Formats: sequence, C-alpha cells, structure tokens
Amino acid sequence: MHTKTPPTSIPSQRAASKNETAMKKPMSALVDRFQREVNYVRISLTDRCDFRCVYCMSEEMTFLPREQILSLEEIEWIAQAFVELGVSKIRLTGGEPLVRKNMISLVDKLGKLDGLDELVLTTNGSQLTKFAVPLREAGVKRINISLDSLNVERFRQLTRTGSLDKVLLGIESAIQAGFEKIKLNAVILKGRNDDEIIDLVEFVIAKGIDISFIEEMPLGYIDEHSREESYMSSEAIIKVIEARYPLMSSSDTTSGPSRYYRLQSGGKTRIGFISPHSHNFCSTCNRVRVTAEGRLLLCLGNEHSVDLRALVRAHPGDMDKLKDAIIKSMDLKPEKHYFDLSDEPQIVRFMNTTGG
Ligand code: SAM
Ligand code: SF4
Repeated sequence: MHTKTPPTSIPSQRAASKNETAMKKPMSALVDRFQREVNYVRISLTDRCDFRCVYCMSEEMTFLPREQILSLEEIEWIAQAFVELGVSKIRLTGGEPLVRKNMISLVDKLGKLDGLDELVLTTNGSQLTKFAVPLREAGVKRINISLDSLNVERFRQLTRTGSLDKVLLGIESAIQAGFEKIKLNAVILKGRNDDEIIDLVEFVIAKGIDISFIEEMPLGYIDEHSREESYMSSEAIIKVIEARYPLMSSSDTTSGPSRYYRLQSGGKTRIGFISPHSHNFCSTCNRVRVTAEGRLLLCLGNEHSVDLRALVRAHPGDMDKLKDAIIKSMDLKPEKHYFDLSDEPQIVRFMNTTGG
C-alpha cells in the first residue's frame, strides 16, 4: 500500500533497502571500500550521436577516432568479464547507442550471456522505428527514451538536430514491440521546457508508460546556456506536478537513483526523479561505467578510472587478467560526487563520452 509523502521528504524505502543490502551476502565479486556491491554496468557503444542536445554536447563536437573506440568484440569480452564477476544488469548507452554500426549483433550476444538478468538500453528514440523489434527479440527487456519537449520547434532547439515526429514514431514502435517497461527521461531546464512538465506527465499517462525527470548535471563545458540559471530542482518539479496531479510515494524500487511516485488518482504510470544535486544518491551506488574508448569509470562525477582498452589489447583473450583488473578497480571507487553549477565544470568530459 502506498502512503502519501510530503514532496520535500525522501521516501524511507531507500534507507530500508540499504539495510537489507547490508544484511545480504554480496552476489557480486565486486565490492568497494565502502561495502557497496557493484552489480550494474553502463556500457557506452559510441560517443557519436545524431543529436546535439544543448545540455549534453557543444554544437561543434570532435568525436573520437574509430581506432580509439572499443570494437564490438572487445565490448562483448568486457561485458562477459563483468557478468562472470556477478554483474546482473547491463545498460547500453552512448552517445546514441543505436547509431553504432552492427550494434544488434552485439546486443544479440549480450542477450545470451549466462547470469545476465537485465539487458536494458537508453536511446534518443530516433532509430526506434527500425530497431525496436530487433532489440526486443535480442533480449532487451526495458528501454529508456529521452524526450524533453512535445513541441516541434522547441524539440529542434533543445536537440539542435532532432526531429520530434521521428522520436514520437519511435516511442510508438517501442510500445508495439512489447518491452516490459518503457520510461521517458526528461531533463528540465528552467525557462526552456519547465512549462511542459504537465504536458509530459499527461503524455506518459496516456501512453501507459513511465517518466523520470532529471536534474541537469555539470558535465562538460557548454556555452549555450548557464547551467546555474537553468537549474530546476526535483522538488520544484514535484511542486508543479502536485498542483495538478497529487502524488504518492511508490514502493517500487529499482537499483537506480530514481525516487518513484505514482498518481493518487491511480493508473500504472510511475513518475521518477533523478536528483544528483538535491538528493545525493552515492551511498547506495551500485554501478560503474565503461566509456566508448574502454575507460572503466568508477563514478559519474569523478575522474577515477582504469584503462580496460589498453589491457584487452595488450592481453587479448586473457579473461583472468581482465577480471583481476576489474576487481582491483573497486578500490578506486570514490565515496561520492560533488557537483556545483559554476560555469567552469569540474568534470570536463561530456555526458556523451561518459555513457549517460
Ligand atoms: N543518446 C541517448 C539518450 O539521449 O537517451 C543515450 C545517452 S544520453 C547521454 C543518456 C541520458 O543522459 C539522456 O536521458 C540525457 O537526457 C541525459 N543527459 C545528457 N547530458 C546530461 C546532463 N548534462 N545532465 C543530466 N542529464 C544529461
Ligand atoms: Fe545525443 Fe543523448 Fe547526448 Fe542528446 S543526450 S546529444 S541524444 S547522447
């Protein structure tokens, strides 16, 4: 049963699940210095993208030379190492993962990895009319699709190159393909798309899918807008929604940093909030990232990393060496991230190179 929680308080199930985690025997061989079990890896298939979202990239981007990008075989090998170490969830991301040539062949192989419970993907939706069915058939269970505006002109401004119609058709294709869960991701920027919060909520209710609202993170230098001025906190977004649709905290838990709510009026839509500024979720962090060039990043908001590409290229086929390096990397995982919104970001890599 759900209980109403005041918007400013954090639902208590977070603390409960942390205690439960503390009592459980780790399933993964990957445990860091703070006793956090790492069982989730986000793998970036490419730093390239057909969009240039204003909060993610600068207008003129230089992408990595192809030889610096992991091959599909190298990605498969690294994924296998993680799964053998006890990782049960992999998210494919980017850049735009669906623009990577032949990515379906990789997804097919990952979908068959023994021990991998969840293969999921985050996409901008532009290629989903073509790939929704093959992805579902390859074993992708859940899919996140980014959508920040339902207004054609504004969508184009925010993505610089994107077509809203294409993405809406992509969302429809995903619904038809029968994914177990579809969730939209919306980054809300004050003065840019905060007047569409209710439209986005009504859109997901009508489609019977979920949505997460994300606070903008200061990754990479952008000069298109000031991150400080455009910052809109999750609590401010909750207030806007609650004025029209009262929410109740939801006991749905995922292994992610989203706090979930449902509508008091019912329905299956969940509304999540990812709040890297206003609600630090580091104490329950269970994930690491592998960038398109094979850097194992231990934290989104810090630079601690290990060069897995160098290792797999120096020792091809040596699974033990690879697994050993991944186990040792756990000692580098920092306790938490510190974001501030000054115009000089502490982290100069963009989200597309990070693997969002
Ligand atoms: N291209 C795919 C997409 O847009 O869904 C996958 C990669 S993208 C980097 C993953 C997610 O990161 C998207 O939902 C995007 O909105 C979000 N994102 C990108 N830059 C961000 C930033 N600076 N702050 C917060 N979220 C960001
Ligand atoms: Fe591309 Fe996704 Fe970044 Fe937008 S958020 S530019 S779609 S990688």
